[in-house]
Amino acid sequence: QLYIFISSQNKKLNPIVHLRNKDSVLSSAKNLSTSSSSNTANLTPPIVLSIKDNIAVKDVPLTCASQALNGYSSPYNATVVDLLESSGNLVIGKTNMDEFGMGSTNTNTIFGPVINPYTDSQDISSGGSSGGSAVSVASRMCNVSLGSDTGGSIRLPASWCGIYGFKPSFGTVSRHGLVAYANSSDTIGIVSESVLSAKTVYDIISKHDPSDMTCLPDHFRSIINNSVSKRNALLFKQNLNLKGLTVGIPKEYYISELSGSILSAWKSVSELLLELGAEIKPVSLPNTKYALSAYYTITAAEASSNMARYDGIRYGPSVPQSSDLDHISTIASDKYSKYRNFGLGPEVKKRVITGNYVLSSSVQKNYYIKAQQIRRLIQRDFDSTFRLNNILTSHHLSNKTQTNGIGSPISNNQNKFESGFLENTPVHKEIGVDLLLMPTTANTAPFISEVSSTSKSANKASPNSVKVYVNDVMTVPINLAGIPAASIPVGICSNNHLPIGLQIVGQYGDDQLVLSVSQALE
Ligand code: GLN
Repeated sequence: QLYIFISSQNKKLNPIVHLRNKDSVLSSAKNLSTSSSSNTANLTPPIVLSIKDNIAVKDVPLTCASQALNGYSSPYNATVVDLLESSGNLVIGKTNMDEFGMGSTNTNTIFGPVINPYTDSQDISSGGSSGGSAVSVASRMCNVSLGSDTGGSIRLPASWCGIYGFKPSFGTVSRHGLVAYANSSDTIGIVSESVLSAKTVYDIISKHDPSDMTCLPDHFRSIINNSVSKRNALLFKQNLNLKGLTVGIPKEYYISELSGSILSAWKSVSELLLELGAEIKPVSLPNTKYALSAYYTITAAEASSNMARYDGIRYGPSVPQSSDLDHISTIASDKYSKYRNFGLGPEVKKRVITGNYVLSSSVQKNYYIKAQQIRRLIQRDFDSTFRLNNILTSHHLSNKTQTNGIGSPISNNQNKFESGFLENTPVHKEIGVDLLLMPTTANTAPFISEVSSTSKSANKASPNSVKVYVNDVMTVPINLAGIPAASIPVGICSNNHLPIGLQIVGQYGDDQLVLSVSQALE
């Protein structure tokens, strides 16, 4: 029945690109009949899941919606897939996406665009790059989908499709088996029909993984849990309402492009939080205006390096070669360029070229290094706004510990650091906010025909590409800072009847608070 339903929905909306057969779905889910959730606050398995096509599922195609990987199947499971299947959940297939995660409208794909299920029109974008994940959940093919969020790719399609999208803190979920786009921001996250299902899946996948060196080790998880519980004990004495909670409204997100219906949804959810007992406070994140340019500089640089492995030798289909070449190096470079020209789509090529440019020695100082400096300022904006200290960047760490940018601290004396932190350091400041409330996007879903890049426009910078990048203006600062955020559906635009999403954003490691307050607003 589910399969018949999926096939008919898939014909209309195009979210699933590889559907597994029933037998392999059932045989790969372990403990199916015996498992039950030990935590009664969570859903009981099996949860029916789809997985974005840049996350490895054993013996299932892994294409990243790219010609460069067409025909490739993964020989192993990503850690997140292992964790979900071994707790008795069902992975039914892989979802459509923007090629290698590069895009916001799910139109840069060899499988054709994904259609937003919210109206009868076949021309409304699902959002991207995890558009297939969002639509597979929104059209009820599955309960939950795993996607990836480097600059908003879970939250944006979730908001345009009227469902929940959760991007955890960087490093809390293993990325072993996720195809890299921009490593310093890539995060596996969750698209779901309810906050409860997102919480359930997050509890399963949020674990240290020795196969991913950027995945947070257990002792840091305990430090985070400790500081979060101390803060909770001090501030949130009553759990029936949100008394004690302070929510910040960042003024820099009130931009002229913000649509009227999103602004009024933002206002009414702030009022609802007030009614529920929270305090609402205007705050300022002054470096927000530089975030989009910094993001597209840093991610292009990292993408240009990651895309170098698609050389036609290790993966993908073979490309016909010229026969009259007489020098081996000419043959190799001819093979590379033919394969890359054929295998990579126009948006990916644009990023590779931009990335190589911003990293080139003559301009690196003006672009790549500047973007990294901006990233640090954006992190500081968030750190000085949140009440809870960021365990990765707090000042008390800097004497004893260096941090490697956004990633894990490099401790030279871990024991001293841990006891010093837990005993002597206040876990939060007197003033500051616990969460931020802001729109996910400035507008509701656009028409596919307006945002789709044709092969013609691909060779030159099309005016559409800048227009598409601007959709990410409210989501990318969160990835640059590595902090958690959920996009929650809050209403429908009165003009076009399309869904509106708002983001709940927390301090690094405060993922459970983000989820709990999202649930309170459900
Ligand atoms: N739209 C953004 C980009 O193209 C974000 C993508 C993502 O989060 N994977 O880079």
